[in-house]
Amino acid sequence: MDASTTARQVVFDGVGAVRIDSIGLPSLGHDDVLVRIAMVGICATDLHLLAGHIGDPFPLVPGHEFVGEVAALGDGARVKRGIAVGDHVAVEMLLPCGACARCREGRYNLCEKDAPASGRDGGRQYGVNIPRTTAPGLWGGYAEYLFAPDAAVIHTMPSGLPWDHAVLVEPLAVAHRALARGRLRPGEDVVIIGPGPVGLLAAAAARASGAGRVIIVGTRPSRLALARRFGADAIVDSTTVEDLPGAVRDVLGGQLPDLVVETAGVVNAQVDAVRSVRRGGRVVLAGACGAGQTLGVLADEDLLTREIDVLPSFLSAGGFEPAIAQLNRGEFPFHELVTHRFALDDVERAFSLIESRADGVVKAVLEPRRTKE
Ligand SMILES: [Zn+2]
Ligand SMILES: [Zn+2]
Repeated sequence: MDASTTARQVVFDGVGAVRIDSIGLPSLGHDDVLVRIAMVGICATDLHLLAGHIGDPFPLVPGHEFVGEVAALGDGARVKRGIAVGDHVAVEMLLPCGACARCREGRYNLCEKDAPASGRDGGRQYGVNIPRTTAPGLWGGYAEYLFAPDAAVIHTMPSGLPWDHAVLVEPLAVAHRALARGRLRPGEDVVIIGPGPVGLLAAAAARASGAGRVIIVGTRPSRLALARRFGADAIVDSTTVEDLPGAVRDVLGGQLPDLVVETAGVVNAQVDAVRSVRRGGRVVLAGACGAGQTLGVLADEDLLTREIDVLPSFLSAGGFEPAIAQLNRGEFPFHELVTHRFALDDVERAFSLIESRADGVVKAVLEPRRTKE
């Protein structure tokens, strides 16, 4: 058992308003788990939340890319989940209801149970749409502790896996879901647009899933260099080419790929994705563009006459299992993506680093037990 009685948290009180606060830890029910967070990734989504782009979930404790260890749990949770105090765990950001038609068909990322505060349709998400005012207020990863009720999807992580590998489980799960949506088969060529953390991890996931050739498209030279370390056979700097489909065709010896995955969440890149896939190919849209954006493709020329399957991929349902297996195999230098670490108190410094794209930042993380610098 843990001796702490309170948890420190980063709180978003409203648009642009960040503070640190403490909250009391709850007494746990039969099926509840309390997780002590070891590391939480800072995601672009968190910055969009703070900017007010994703509804009005305030006051909110952000953070959905968290890993930690079991601090305490009820007897029911211990028996049902087969976990114990001290176990390393990851908790999926989705809290599925388990009872709606979407949950029952396994697409629990589309759970239809309403969130307490949501700018999107349904679905309760840690760090995104459950306000801190909903008891016990431990619904986000930028904190020392997280509350996991019976509905939470908890995965046991290998205890020997370093936290700076484990913390990538959520974005890697997003990458695996994207490839599963794209029905990637062994030997198929894949183009990934956007060498952010999810794009780089998608390259590693595609490689591990038996892809033929893997190409990463991006704009930042440092990211493109990193792509080679995560399984890319070739890279295309989109700032130097006028016609992306042509450039991709050149790299692939005259062919277009079977699958294109767009992770950047940029409308022009989505159009490029559709135009850069072979006839009858699949395009996965895995990046959020922001509210109100429209897809700019031509209905006949780009889609109908080429029979392109456009497959949006939302969140990470079904992706944690392959992601944990892949992290455990350790085939890629995952920790190289975790470029910066901060204490909770330094969260605003972390945000400005990410916004300035300075110092080669790829993934910045918060370590709730780290002390302020
Ligand atoms: Zn994220
Ligand atoms: Zn549901």
